[in-house]
Amino acid sequence: MRKKIVAGNWKMNLNLEDGKNLVAGILAGNPALTESKQVVIAPPFIHLLQTGVQIENQQYISLGAQNCHFEASGAFTGEVSAAMLQSAGVQYVIIGHSERREYFNETDSQLAQKTDLALHNGLKVIFCCGEPLDIRDADTQNDYVAAQIKAGLFHLDATSLKDIVIAYEPIWAIGTGRTATAAQAQEMHAHIRQIVAAQYGNDVANDMSILYGGSCKPANAAELMACPDVDGGLIGGASLKAEEFLGIIDAMI
Ligand code: PGA
Repeated sequence: MRKKIVAGNWKMNLNLEDGKNLVAGILAGNPALTESKQVVIAPPFIHLLQTGVQIENQQYISLGAQNCHFEASGAFTGEVSAAMLQSAGVQYVIIGHSERREYFNETDSQLAQKTDLALHNGLKVIFCCGEPLDIRDADTQNDYVAAQIKAGLFHLDATSLKDIVIAYEPIWAIGTGRTATAAQAQEMHAHIRQIVAAQYGNDVANDMSILYGGSCKPANAAELMACPDVDGGLIGGASLKAEEFLGIIDAMI
């Protein structure tokens, strides 16, 4: 069954004390979650153990990481492996965020390797895709996003797809206050579902959660969520304040 998911991506924000308070604030809001309406919190690596303790009794709030390395282990100073994440109680890992692709030059083949390692270690993957503004202006976003998904995921078998969530995040909407319209989001999400269906069949595609990300706020979350192919959100800035994150959870799921 397709799940609705609101995932908070803190990026490189908040010290440990602030992170603890934020999670406490989210829990105090007691969001109405169920098996099919879930939350993921993805803090920086250094917060993972603390956040994990805070949410350990929360059946429907999962711990997420923002990245993992593309090699299993070894001499990669400063990096964190998928196996380490798994051993720290992490359940989800965000792979292929546009900031990783752009600022850290992560390639499609590295993202495919990361995905394999994450799945191999029992993690679920939030696989990000999304076009820059020039591609949107040229109206070639459908092909662009299709290529990202094929390169990152199409080496997987159908069974593995149940552990994949796709997040569509148009780069021009991330942190800019310029959200995609509900119509733009719906069109792309339907396109993504169709790409998955063509490769893996309708059942796999219909079960897949496809999240929208990019300047999602409590004020626009309900409209985005009303789209039949939008199954939740990957939330950056608005995940840093309990009230806003709870507002999005309320509106979305
Ligand atoms: P934003 O970021 O909500 O701050 O636009 C979304 C994301 O990059 O995941």
